[in-house]
Amino acid sequence: MSTVDKLAILGGEKAIPQQFALYNPIGSEEVAAAAAVVESGVLSQFIGRGGTDFLGGPKVREFEQAMSEYFDVEHAISVNSWTSGLIASVGALDIEPGDEIIVTPWTMCASATAILIWNAIPVFADIDPQTFCLDPKSVEDNITPHTRAIMSVDIGGHPANTDALNAIAKKHGLKVISDTAQAPGATLRDKFAGTLTDLGGYSLNYHKHIHTGEGGVVVTNDSNLAERVRLIRNHGEHVAHDIGLSQINNIIGFNFRLGEIESAIGIAQLKKLDKFVATRRRAAERLTQGLKDLAGLETPFVAPDCTHSYYMYFMKVDPEITGVSRNDIHKALVAEGVPGLGTSYANIHLLPMYQQKIAYGKAGFPWKSDICRREVSYAKGICPVAEDLQDRTYLGFQMCMHEMTDAEVDAMVQAFHKVWRNMHLLPQLDGQNVKAS
Ligand SMILES: *Cc1c(COP(=O)(O)O)cnc(C)c1O
Repeated sequence: MSTVDKLAILGGEKAIPQQFALYNPIGSEEVAAAAAVVESGVLSQFIGRGGTDFLGGPKVREFEQAMSEYFDVEHAISVNSWTSGLIASVGALDIEPGDEIIVTPWTMCASATAILIWNAIPVFADIDPQTFCLDPKSVEDNITPHTRAIMSVDIGGHPANTDALNAIAKKHGLKVISDTAQAPGATLRDKFAGTLTDLGGYSLNYHKHIHTGEGGVVVTNDSNLAERVRLIRNHGEHVAHDIGLSQINNIIGFNFRLGEIESAIGIAQLKKLDKFVATRRRAAERLTQGLKDLAGLETPFVAPDCTHSYYMYFMKVDPEITGVSRNDIHKALVAEGVPGLGTSYANIHLLPMYQQKIAYGKAGFPWKSDICRREVSYAKGICPVAEDLQDRTYLGFQMCMHEMTDAEVDAMVQAFHKVWRNMHLLPQLDGQNVKAS
């Protein structure tokens, strides 16, 4: 056997000796845009009172206008993070403490925390084994008389089965929020993910396709919900007094305002979104071409009426076919120099907060209080598809972590093929789960 083909984990040469360049979407346009705001001296023009400055300064408004045009929605409301956007979106709904909102466990923790913040109860439904987004059947199974909304997440960059979720919502009188943090630019029936539900939105944090350092944008076509989001963003309880607002439930205002510098950077970033998504898509499709014939490896699924924006590259290993555990394959691939690869994504119902039902104070509020109208289970076993991915089959990495030139993609493909060719030689290491960095 040549030393080149000897597995790195057994002392051979790495298939990928070089480090990939980090993904960096920020360029001279953003530098100029930020500098111009700094020179103007107006770094934020928001005031938490009724009046024009309730809606922020010129760059905030220009960015929101550009977002609403790009995504073809009536309202785009900037916020200082998408976590803030999720909190404002849940608050904008007409929900009471103790109401239930169905959410996926295969997501970033904030999708569910935004529910709990309002003392509503997150109920976890299982995911679809192909898209890793909410499984509509499991959602329907989890509906109770207390359910008020569905928090759907377009996870990894693939749109959720939004048509089915909207149909369920309509049948049961529920609202739907789309957490599209990871899927800006992904489409369903030629419409942008995030724009097909009551409320949706995007993250602008440093790790996402486009970013402003921290930031986010809520999108909606519902003017009443938009107004409520704007009030929660900016000291709504005070503004409600100024403007004589009648519907004041949940108008507990935060300061979720995005600054002028971030907004100016956001305007420049948005112009590049198409290009960045196209680059991720091209790299992912090339990777899929290169990996599709490896036995026991499933590459990302794309539904026929959807496009994927590839924030993550979600794969599955079938250990029955490979004869080697997912964890041991992962170790061998990491040894070959495959960057950012992880075996663990999320099962947020298994976080200590849910397992111990300790959130507000020590007595178990809201679950163990009168506002919670039934016992909700977060036990291991409630989401078998998501749990099995985590325990046994999931393998993936972030496409928005590195530049992915054709040469880099080809090097990744070579590394996978090398490990697959030598699968029978892999030491059975009984590896630990490793979180994708
Ligand atoms: C990034 C992310 C968030 C949170 O966005 P922030 O802007 O960091 O607050 C929420 N949900 C998902 C699925 C995410 O990926």
